[in-house]
Amino acid sequence: MSIDNLPPLRQVLEQYDLMPKKSLGQNFLFDLNLTSKIARQAGALQDQPVIEVGPGPGGLTRALLAQGALVTAIERDERCLPALAEIESHYPGRLKVISGDALEQDFEALFPDGNKPRIVANLPYNVGTQLLINWLLSEPWPPYYQSMTLMFQREVAERIVAAPNTDHYGRLAVLAGWRTQSRIAFDVPPQAFTPPPKVMSSVVHITPLDKPLPCDAQKLGRITQAAFGQRRKMLRQSLKPVNGAKLLEVTGIDGTRRAETLNIEEFVALANALD
Ligand code: SAM
Repeated sequence: MSIDNLPPLRQVLEQYDLMPKKSLGQNFLFDLNLTSKIARQAGALQDQPVIEVGPGPGGLTRALLAQGALVTAIERDERCLPALAEIESHYPGRLKVISGDALEQDFEALFPDGNKPRIVANLPYNVGTQLLINWLLSEPWPPYYQSMTLMFQREVAERIVAAPNTDHYGRLAVLAGWRTQSRIAFDVPPQAFTPPPKVMSSVVHITPLDKPLPCDAQKLGRITQAAFGQRRKMLRQSLKPVNGAKLLEVTGIDGTRRAETLNIEEFVALANALD
């Protein structure tokens, strides 16, 4: 499939000598059908600002641009910059590439006019969860972004969308469920990537809630850390480090329950009872 007149991605890799590096979580997508499908999940993109983390040789970037987005991409691997410059000149004024580490980037400062960007990325697996947590802990809330459409390992995707009383339910599900609505859009098999990772991947679409239950993110973090740190133990045991007996009494939550049985409202109640 051709979505632009740029060279095929395999050729781009050869031309710029972009041997994928494991240390940078480089598993590239070459199939423009697939990158277009990911871009479409983000919604209507015509003239919409988009943040892309880790454009690499630009497969997803090209799909976003072909759908009319205004892309700001941040890439840590300087070897990718010449390939991205070629895309930039094909779409004048529509792609801005920042050379740097996404973990250190103040994304909000890039969009001072209040025109909320969508975040779309095939994330490097080594920093993907940390980036998601940073975005979920954004202050103020509702955040500076409109939505997130992100590729994760399937197992991480399941931890984001998990419901109570399931194996994957934990801190990530409570944090994501408190402030957002999230769903797994579709799976992507290992062979879609170069080189193929060992496991299945999934694209997750996440939309911030306008009015999550009022709660302090740090307190919710402390409660979930204590509760899920010893997830097989009863709450009266696992919550001891945070003065659990009092919290359980104030909230009326039964101390013989385990963390995985509590819904988000109950975690929020415990966090709000913390001093
Ligand atoms: N978007 C491309 C694609 O779909 O083919 C590449 C995705 S690859 C999974 C992850 C990309 O993130 C790589 O290009 C890698 O160099 C980049 N990357 C890794 N760590 C990064 C970081 N801390 N900040 C910004 N980019 C990073």
